[in-house]
Parts: sequence; C-alpha cells; structure tokens
Amino acid sequence: MKQLFGGGIHPDGHKDMSRGGAAVPVPAPETVVIPLCQHIGSACKPLVAVGDAVLMGQKIGDGEGRCSPVHATVSGEVTAIEEREVPGGAKVLSVVIRNDFKDARAEAKGAEDYMSLSAAEVAAMVREAGVVGMGGAAFPTNSKIASNEGKTETVLINACECEPYITSDDTIMCTCPGDVIGGARLLAKALKARKSIIAIEDNKPEAIAALRAEAGEDELVEIRVLPTRYPQGAKKQLILAVTGREVAPGARSGALFNVTTTANIFRAVTKGQPLLEKIVTVTGDGANAPQNVLVRIGTSFADVIKAAGGIAEDTKQVIAGGPMMGKAVDTLDVPVVKGTNSILCLTKACDAAADPVCIRCGKCASVCPMYLQPLYLYRYAKAGDKEMLNEYYLNDCMECGCCSFVCPGKLPLTETFVQAKQLLKGGK
Ligand code: SF4
Ligand code: SF4
Repeated sequence: MKQLFGGGIHPDGHKDMSRGGAAVPVPAPETVVIPLCQHIGSACKPLVAVGDAVLMGQKIGDGEGRCSPVHATVSGEVTAIEEREVPGGAKVLSVVIRNDFKDARAEAKGAEDYMSLSAAEVAAMVREAGVVGMGGAAFPTNSKIASNEGKTETVLINACECEPYITSDDTIMCTCPGDVIGGARLLAKALKARKSIIAIEDNKPEAIAALRAEAGEDELVEIRVLPTRYPQGAKKQLILAVTGREVAPGARSGALFNVTTTANIFRAVTKGQPLLEKIVTVTGDGANAPQNVLVRIGTSFADVIKAAGGIAEDTKQVIAGGPMMGKAVDTLDVPVVKGTNSILCLTKACDAAADPVCIRCGKCASVCPMYLQPLYLYRYAKAGDKEMLNEYYLNDCMECGCCSFVCPGKLPLTETFVQAKQLLKGGK
C-alpha cells in the first residue's frame, strides 16, 4: 500500500503492551471530580449546589453557545463546587461528588426508530448526552452533526489511533463493534450522505475483522484499511489519505468523527445514555500491568493507576495521552476527563537534551506533514520574531511532534512552537 500523505514517521507502536481483551472496569471511587469544561467552547454553569443529592447520569452542568453538558458519574452528594486541576495543568471549576455506592440512575430513554431521525434530532440527543470529540479535540459533537446535514457525500470515521502506545479505540472496536457500525450507519443516514467510511490502519487486524464481520454487506458503511503511518489520524492528513482532497488552510474539515465518538453517538441516540465512562489505556514501561480499563469520568489518575496494577518505583514521567501529543502531568490528583484516552507511564522522561544543537540536517522538514520548516520556525521562535513566525506559517503547525522525534540535535521543537503560538496570540 502506498503512503497517501506527505511527511510523517514510523515510531515504534508499543501497542501490543496493552491491547487484547475487554477493558477491565475500575471500581467506582469514593469521590469523583467533574470539571465543568471538558470541551472546546464555553464552560458549563453548575446546575446543582453543595449538599444536593444527585443521581448517576443526572445533568449537573450546562450552558449556552458552544457548550457540552456534564453529568454525575456516580450517585451521591455534592460536597464542593471549586476549582480543581485537570490534565494539562489548568484549574477548572468542578463539581465534587461523594459516592453513595448505590448507582441510583437518572432516567434515560433512547429513540426507537433512530434511523429515521433528522440530523437536528440526532444532534439534540447527542448534545443532551454530553458527547464530545474523543480524538483529542473534545469539540462538541452535536455542532458537527447539525452543521453537516446534506453537505457531504461521505462521512469519515477516524479509527486510525495512530499515536503510539494507545489502544483504547482499538479496544472499543474489538469489543463493541455493533456500537461503532451502528453509529456509522446512523451518521450516514442522518447527514444524508451516501455512506460512512471507517478509516483504520493496518496494524489493527482484530479490529478490522470485528468491524467487517459486524458491517457485513451494509451499503451504508465501508471499512477502508490504510498503511500505518503517524500522524495519519490528523484530520487534514486523513481526509487526504481517504478522499485525495486537500483541506485548505483555515477551512473546516467537515463530517469527520472519531471512532469512539461514533460509538458514543449510537449509545446516546439508541439508549439516551450520557457520556459517563470511557476506556483508558494505562501503559508504558512504568506501568506494572499495561491494559485498558473502563473508568468513570471524574476518577483520579491515582485511582486508575492503582486499579490497573500500579506503576514502577522508577517511573519518571506520567503523560495524559501518547508520547507524541500528550501532556505530562505533575500530579496524579487530576481527574479522567472526556478527552482522556491514555495514561502513559515512562521510566525515561522525554526531556530535551541539555545542550540542543541544530546540525542543519533537514530531517525535521522532511517529516513535517504540514510542509513547514521547523528549523527556521525554531530560530524565529527563539528570537521572538512574530513577523517571520507568521511568514513561516507557525499557526499551521498541528503540534504532531514528528520534527522533535527525528531531530538528532534533540531540539525541543514542538514544545517551542506551542509556546510561540501563545506569543502570536499576544501572550508571553
Ligand atoms: S532535525 Fe534538528 S538538527 Fe536537523 S535541521 Fe531540523 S532542527 Fe536542525
Ligand atoms: S510539530 Fe509542527 S512543525 Fe513539527 S512536524 Fe508537526 S506540524 Fe510540522
């Protein structure tokens, strides 16, 4: 199979460490912390007060505009509404709930004739369930559904999971193929598209077989197998790989949904099921027993790691996400949020070299999937030269980490570009 987008790399996948079998449920914790903003957009306002009793699945935060509601993931009592740290280091107003371990559930009802729903009806149910993009961006999914009705011939389902180590999407495809295929069919029908294409890399043979068996000869769904290459799951690269179409800078990527999001859309519409739990890959050479676990949102990283067998004493770094695009956490007292797909525990920290040197080898430019010139961007970022950073399209950098990965001089390229974007936005 030939490569279908420019640049990219082949890092070691490390996926066999954690893949295989169903996700193991993590016991519900004594306390959950539910941040009121777990998506791109405006934060929710709390719908509960300290001392209130809540049911599992009850909506406890919502708001106007581009906002995705949040729900209680245990039944119990609200003990605090206060700022708490989330993965990534920000402090976010959060609802803290003490678990009564009764799992008393709020009523949930799905649509019976779900294949006849309009895009607006699907979007409303998806919004009510608090479904956001699970591929990293956490964009409210209902907005994407509502804005793409009748505007696309093909719905694209991103099942690449190209980031090394992570196998949470892989697990949902292997263990719940009915929800994935059901969601793909539902989206194709609601958006009035010809079909949904599930794009998956060839390093997931069990998932490919499970999806094919489930889809059968269904004309609304196609499984498209792509050669494995990072960052194939990035939206512009995936659209190019599947459709041959380039997305212009700044243009919307259209009807593209992550595969776990697709399963959650199906559950929201057919069962009225809010987003309460998710599969998280606990992995890395620091994890004592790498595996996938099923976690209630709001459970602390510490509780998840403990339930997954703990970490080695010489663990140097814990990352929320993968090694390429994840963010190191400095405390395990942060909750799993809707966008958490992995907790990566490493015994060697991915720190930059003490004396990074550019030897002008050009490797960074050759792997950049956005055709940028990382060595020049780095130079201008260090000089704080905003004009040249714009001239060299810094804002097109998608922070994929390919340039840092190949740089023999160990320059902290991606990290520097993240900071330089803040400079362009007017920060320091
Ligand atoms: S890969 Fe590193 S050393 Fe090579 S040109 Fe780019 S920044 Fe310089
Ligand atoms: S991090 Fe940015 S500059 Fe580096 S390879 Fe990725 S897109 Fe290109």
